[in-house]
Order: sequence, then structure tokens, then C-alpha cells
Amino acid sequence: MKRILSVVGILVLGMSTFIGIKTITNKPSNNLKEVNLLALPENAITHMSSAIQLRTETPNDEYQFDTATFINYRKFIETAYPLIHKNLTRTIIDSFNYIYEWKGSDPSILPMVLMAHYDVVPVEESAIKLWNAKPYGGEVKDNYIWGRGVLDDKSSMISILEAAETQLAKGFTPKQTILLCFGADEESSGKGATAMVNYFKKNNKKFDLVVDEGGEISTENNKSIKAPIASIGVGEKGYVTLVLTAQKAGGHSSIPAEHTAIDMLSNAIAKVSQNPMPTKLTAPIEAYLESISAYNENFFDKMKLSNLWLFKSSVVNSMTKYPSSNALVRTTLVPTVFNSGVRDNVIPTFASAYINSRILPGQSSKEVYDYVTKTINDTNIKITYYKNYMTEPSPTTNVNSKYYKRVEKIVRAIVKDVVVAPMLMVGATDSRNYREVSEGVVNFTPLTDAKGYHGIDERMLISDFQKCFNFYTLLIKGE
Ligand SMILES: [Zn+2]
Repeated sequence: MKRILSVVGILVLGMSTFIGIKTITNKPSNNLKEVNLLALPENAITHMSSAIQLRTETPNDEYQFDTATFINYRKFIETAYPLIHKNLTRTIIDSFNYIYEWKGSDPSILPMVLMAHYDVVPVEESAIKLWNAKPYGGEVKDNYIWGRGVLDDKSSMISILEAAETQLAKGFTPKQTILLCFGADEESSGKGATAMVNYFKKNNKKFDLVVDEGGEISTENNKSIKAPIASIGVGEKGYVTLVLTAQKAGGHSSIPAEHTAIDMLSNAIAKVSQNPMPTKLTAPIEAYLESISAYNENFFDKMKLSNLWLFKSSVVNSMTKYPSSNALVRTTLVPTVFNSGVRDNVIPTFASAYINSRILPGQSSKEVYDYVTKTINDTNIKITYYKNYMTEPSPTTNVNSKYYKRVEKIVRAIVKDVVVAPMLMVGATDSRNYREVSEGVVNFTPLTDAKGYHGIDERMLISDFQKCFNFYTLLIKGE
């Protein structure tokens, strides 16, 4: 007995020592302490203001496109960036989507794609009075540039153009061919990006690194981590909505039967809400946890993150406590629409509801359908796909790939003491289409704690504009 106890004791001691060593030796990688950024070009801020003043809103109805404004936006970029228009070849796809090709000196390297979209979501009429600046004024105050679209996504487009124009003025020729791809309808159909990728596929084009909007830098709400975290998007969750319908003869509300269509449907929804899909740690999120582990200042959290081989389920379990981290470790299911009833004294014959799901990489809309069907387990509930919009999870970019590493290196060069980590995107971007023509799609713009997306007071720090300019400059220079 004594011998068994001492063997167990030695094992426990050995394991604790191993865990301790893994925790203590897990040190942050060496960052550049001093970051010297290039100043913004002289007219950059004026250009950004002008871009905001052009209301390139995408309406829900694509036939209500404000063609005149989109033509004016084209004229504006032609005037503001003369060297780009002189030296790069522009291809126009479906009226307002642009591909600018900047020929590199080495045709043996696959081209790099820098993407952005310049359409913006409309400003809510009723919310204008809540803004602290004119939504389309392009005002510059309190170290910010204000206005709809300044973050999403004119920050990228104007920064890419400023970086390219500046390098052209210096007589620079890139080694790698660079394509600047600008879409005009990301906020609605995204048809522009699809059309551009179809054009590339028709011409047998393949790409190296593709950089689009998505990941950013956050300094707020980073539990136990003091350094800024730059999240580089490496994949997107899928999207599917299921329609649940219950049908049962209705009638007069004075003589109700035991179960109504509303009861049946409510039961079904309650089952789905009470039985979330099982958690799963996907490769990008595991890599994310590993990337941030060394920076955690809470010893026990750091210990768990440094020893995922042992604490994986505990870490995943704690992630399910917060909606934003829960969404990273499971395919989510949530009721978003419930329809039934016409009058207070009529028992309705039909009740229907939508369950929206965001699907983890490695799973599929079919798995979601099967899971919901099995969970509800009631043949009286009809379950169908909502056909308007549906997309499977995207493939993910490997964090050990040269594409990810290249962006990581540049982010470290422009943001002091930054933690760089991969991220799974819970929303969709235009870059999803490019995964058919590139293995190296990443989503990142160096914006810090950016606020006002699709809402009031959309604004960008001028210092972030400078970071964006430097980010694209380094990419263009082949860093
Ligand atoms: Zn966007």
C-alpha cells in the first residue's frame, strides 16, 4: 500500500512539476519595443473626409442604387490617386467593383490581394440626432475622423490607396504582383465580390495572401491580459436559419383544446434552447488560446492555458459562460422570429418560428438540421431550411502558414507590445469568396477598440488611420 501511495505521489509531483514548468516557461515572444510609424501623407485626412461625404449607401433593393453617387466616388478616387490610375490596370466588374492590377517584377510569385469595400450601411433617420457629428460630414475632431463608413470599410480602402499612391510616387515597383480589389455591395448582397472571384476563376487566377477587413485590435475587456490583442481572422462561421412550423386546428378561444399550435411550437423552441449543441474546440480557437496564454497575468488561468492537454475541457467550459466566447466554441442556435395569431379571441391554426444558427468550421447546415430535428423529436413540427441566405463555414487559414506569419510579423512591427492571435469570425465578409482562389485569406485591419459600426458615432482614431496606412505600406513593400 505504502509503495502504491509513493508511486502515486511521485506521479502527481512529476505532473505538477511538468505543468508548473510549462506555465513558467511560457513567455511572451519578443516584440519590438519602439515602433516608428511613417506619418500619414499630407492629403490623407482630407481624402478620407471626402470619401465619407460621398454617401455610398447600399439599399436593400439593389435597383435603388444611387448610381450618381457611385460614379462620383469613382471620379473622386481617380482624381485623388492619379498615379494609381496612371500605373495600374483597372478592370471594372458589374459597374462599380474595381480590380487594380499592379504588376510585380517577379511573375513567378502568386499575386497578393488587398481587399476592401466602399459601400456603407444607411444611417437611421431617427438616430441622427444622437450623433455627435454629422453622419456624412467627414468631420475631424477630438483625434477622430467621424462618419458613416469611416471604419467599415473606407478605413481599409483609403489606407490601401494612400499606401499605393505613396509608393508609386517614390518610383517603387513591387516584386509580387498586387491586386487592389474594391467591392460596392458587401453590406447587402456581396454579389460584387462573387462576380470578381468568378472573373478570376474564369482567368485561372490563383492568389497568395488575401487581406480583408475583419479582425482588429482590442485593449478593452481583455481579462487578465494587459497588452493589446490583435485578432487576425482566419475563417468564418457558417450561417443557416431553420423554419419550424406547427399546425393544429384552431377555433374559438372560449373552448380551447389541450395543446394549441403555439403551445407545440413553444415546447419545440424550449427544447432547442435548453439543449445547445455540444462544445467543440476548433483548430483556430485552440491556436488562439495558445497565442494568448503567455500573456495572462492570472497564474491559474495561465496554467490552464499553458497546459491545454490537461485543462481543455475546463477552459472550454469557462468560455461558455460569456456569449462572445461561447460563440467561439459551439455552433449556436437562437430563435429570432416567432409568428402566430391574428386576434386575441382566435386560437391560431399555424405557428412558425425561425431558429438562426452560426456554424463552427468542421460542421455543416445538415448537421444543424439533424441536431434540431432530433432534439425536438416531434413529428408535428415541420422543419425546413430558410432559403434566402445560407452558407457553410469557410475553410480556415493555417496559423503556421506563411500567410498568417507574414501578417503577424507586420502587426508586431506597427503595434507596440501587441499579442497576436488568430480568430474565428462570427460574421461574413467578402473575402469568403476568395477562399476558392487562395489558401491564404486573412481578415485584419489595425483599428483599436473601434466603435460605431453600423450604429451611431462611427469614428476612427487618426492614429489608427496611420496604423492602417503603415500596415498596407509594409504589405505592399513585400515585408
Ligand atoms: Zn465591412
